Amino acid sequence: MNLPEGVQYRTVGGERSLATRGPRVSDEPTDGEWRAWSPTRSKLGAMLDAGMETGLAGGETVLYLGAAAGTTASHVADFAGPTYAVEFAPRPVRELVAVARDRDRLFPLMKDARRPETYAHVVEPVDAIVQDVATRGQAAVALKNRQFLTDGGRLLLAVKARSEDVTRDPEAVFEAVTTELAEGYELLAQQRLDPRHEDHLAVVARPR
Ligand code: SAM
Repeated sequence: MNLPEGVQYRTVGGERSLATRGPRVSDEPTDGEWRAWSPTRSKLGAMLDAGMETGLAGGETVLYLGAAAGTTASHVADFAGPTYAVEFAPRPVRELVAVARDRDRLFPLMKDARRPETYAHVVEPVDAIVQDVATRGQAAVALKNRQFLTDGGRLLLAVKARSEDVTRDPEAVFEAVTTELAEGYELLAQQRLDPRHEDHLAVVARPR
């Protein structure tokens, strides 16, 4: 399995875990500079832990959509280059800003990921989009933000079935989302993230 440079398996807080090196966030387990990265709290962490080929090598420029309080975005900024973190809910953004204060590569943007035109003047071309937005229209969000990806870039997407339709069979939702996604992306890998993340599909794709 290829982990990005700057991501390692380490024993942190007595347990073997993925870890990145960076300033501590709240009371998370650490070992010196290494911070445990829990795959149960992070879809990207779960993708890496499952051995998915994300294409991340470390040092990339990243657009992170659905950053919430920065649980995962903080780890990404530990091993990546400039990391633009989009989140539209004011409360988590407050925590995200606090997490970013210690990180000179993490740039919080209180924006709606469905409206990339509102941050297009700030975000440079990126090597990877990490998307974890709990919203209906997750394929549309990925397609709208494709404009930021460089030709060889990667979309690392976690699709939450229940955000699309709580009543529909998750497999049918995943089929519909990946079909729509294929309008602008070539799908390279797909994997369910259950049981760590119930009714979530992880997708690795590149722009067509
Ligand atoms: N990725 C985060 C992590 O691993 O730490 C968790 C993200 S949480 C599952 C989903 C987030 O998407 C929520 O914080 C929600 O406010 C945000 N979200 C939903 N729709 C959004 C939109 N249109 N634009 C920006 N953020 C959105």
